[in-house]
Amino acid sequence: MDIELFWHNQGNGKSSRFMLMNDQDQIRAFLHQNVLWSQAFEQNPSIQLIVDPNKSVIIDANPRACRFYGYNRTQMRGMSFGVLEVETLPVDNLTEDSTIHSYQHRTAKGDIRSVKVNSNALTVDTDTLIQLIVFDITKRRRAEAAEQGQRLLAEALVNTAAALVNTLNLDEVLDRVLEQVEHILPNEYVNIMLVENDITTIARARGYERVTNVETYRQLQVSVSATPTLRWMTERRSALAIPNVNTSPLWIPMQDTIDWLKSYLGAPIRMGSYVIGFLNLDSSVTNRFSEQDAYTLQAFADQAAIAIRNARLFDRMRNQTMISEKRVAERTAELNYEREQLHTILDAMTEGVIYQELDANRNLQTRYVNRVMLNMLGYETDETPPNLQDIFSFADVDASHQAQIHHDVAEALRINGVWTSQLRFKPPNRLPFDASVTSTQVNGTLGTDRNPDRLQGIVTILRDNTQEQALQRQRSRFVAQASHELRTPLTNLKTRAYLMRKQPEKFQDHLEILEGSVTRMQHLIDYLLDMSRLERGVALFKFQEVNAQMLLQIVISEHEPKIRQTGQTIHLYLPKTALIVRADPDRLMQAISNLLANASNYTPNDGAVMVRLSQMRDEHGHENAMFEVIDTGVGIPHNQQADIFEPFYRISNDGYGSGLGLSIAREIVAGHGGTIWVESQLGVGSCFRFCLPLVLMEQPVEAGS
Ligand code: ADP
Repeated sequence: MDIELFWHNQGNGKSSRFMLMNDQDQIRAFLHQNVLWSQAFEQNPSIQLIVDPNKSVIIDANPRACRFYGYNRTQMRGMSFGVLEVETLPVDNLTEDSTIHSYQHRTAKGDIRSVKVNSNALTVDTDTLIQLIVFDITKRRRAEAAEQGQRLLAEALVNTAAALVNTLNLDEVLDRVLEQVEHILPNEYVNIMLVENDITTIARARGYERVTNVETYRQLQVSVSATPTLRWMTERRSALAIPNVNTSPLWIPMQDTIDWLKSYLGAPIRMGSYVIGFLNLDSSVTNRFSEQDAYTLQAFADQAAIAIRNARLFDRMRNQTMISEKRVAERTAELNYEREQLHTILDAMTEGVIYQELDANRNLQTRYVNRVMLNMLGYETDETPPNLQDIFSFADVDASHQAQIHHDVAEALRINGVWTSQLRFKPPNRLPFDASVTSTQVNGTLGTDRNPDRLQGIVTILRDNTQEQALQRQRSRFVAQASHELRTPLTNLKTRAYLMRKQPEKFQDHLEILEGSVTRMQHLIDYLLDMSRLERGVALFKFQEVNAQMLLQIVISEHEPKIRQTGQTIHLYLPKTALIVRADPDRLMQAISNLLANASNYTPNDGAVMVRLSQMRDEHGHENAMFEVIDTGVGIPHNQQADIFEPFYRISNDGYGSGLGLSIAREIVAGHGGTIWVESQLGVGSCFRFCLPLVLMEQPVEAGS
């Protein structure tokens, strides 16, 4: 019987491996060996291969090996060992006596199995063969890999979380997500999509530059609801692995990716009940991503979601803060501008203004004082506002009256919100002045426990009305004196009328006196009307260029006879150069007449009256005509020199003067833009002067006397 030895060395050209055994002993011996071999190799439950290490060819494989690798025995015999190898088996390993190493082998179906290989050298004749005993450790490896994967994932997630939460800047967070996903799931192409109102935008992408135009790719926007993969992930809120995009019903190929994209793994970035984005991994090989990868990516996406949410919150908070800060800055600028405006307005006012506010102890604290108020109270304007707690302390009243004022103010504010009064103030460094005072309550927000009556502060306005008051007093005096002046001739009239009836025989005498009284009254009324018209400015001046010399000569000629009659001498001094002024000649003559009449009236009969005209340059360099009426009369006491220009003011009640002549003269001179004043010495005489601006000078004229 021929027995084919199962050992053969295919392709080595030697036929010695195929033996015919006829010798019974040989056969027996062989069978004995064969039985042993059969037990050791054929029936062995372990996977065994015999390999020629020189040619790297499989000499034989036991049935268990054939089942394991998925080839029949014929296929296996003579097969290159490389067909099984995923990683090349190092030759060194094979020649060692007995070593165990781990490899990955590929089965006929293409499955990759993890194996441990125990290799033993067998010597047949002079050849060395290798017996490989293969242990399938795929399951163990998977378990190990899964366990390691979990461990790595946990570690990676911890690192990711640390890396992501390290920054609150959304841009940086996205960069880090992209960077970290590489550590967790090494990948070819990755992108992060963010979703807003169902539309995605690619916030970050990496790897695509190798396969497509990145700019166009990054501008890609798709609708979540219209994209099955994204919709799937959104609805299920879980990761999606597509091993082969060509066979997946969920996959809609895009122009940009159609050529190269073979498998896909995506995970929704979940935030509460929303999906705010997607983490997408693309691959150019099929079956690139496993279920485990999907789980891993989802875990990672959840970490990323936390970081993105924090960054967004921070962003929103920062934006809000920035907006608030900007608003505050704008409002502050507006308020400053308004305050500036208000201060400018308040400083431009002619009234003094002070604003005081109640502090926590309900004491008034000064918050603002305008310049006028500071001036009024005798402070320098550039000085730091003093703490003017109580402006009524400047009032010219005693302590008890001051307490009364405070009480009145508080009461009036409580009832009406406003208090007004007329007070005289007497600041330490200033002349006393009269002022109308108005205090107005400033209401704050609605009443609080601390501040139930809503009073927040008080604005007090002081109007210096010293002049008004003086004018008022003057008016009252004027009315009183005018009435008095009219009553005297009226009483006279009444008396004379009575006497005329009682003494008809003295009718003529009484009539004369009566007429005199009427004339006096008429004069008085004419004066009063004149005064009133001049004061009110309704007396229109008819200005023209007037030769002052000629005007004075006319006045003198009118008065000269009467003056000479008294025995007084009269002198007129005129300059050679004609002085021309702009004047209403009638009014100007009236003023000079009044002065001349007074000069004569208040001078003894042996005295002298002089009128002098001269040219005078004032402190501004302007040329003026100076009019002087001088007498050697009784003179005017120094302290009454200002008063005599007031209506009805008379030093003595002797004579028939009305007390209006000087006040009319003053109004007329003022109407010409000049000022009248007097220099006088009791018992020596008086000199009344006023100046009018010179218009032009004419040729010299003859002076009169
Ligand atoms: P009257 O009609 O009383 O003269 P005036 O207004 O002209 O009124 O003058 C007012 C007062 O001034 C006079 O009453 C007089 O006391 C005083 N006075 C005016 N002029 C002179 C003067 N030349 N010499 C002295 N006193 C004068």
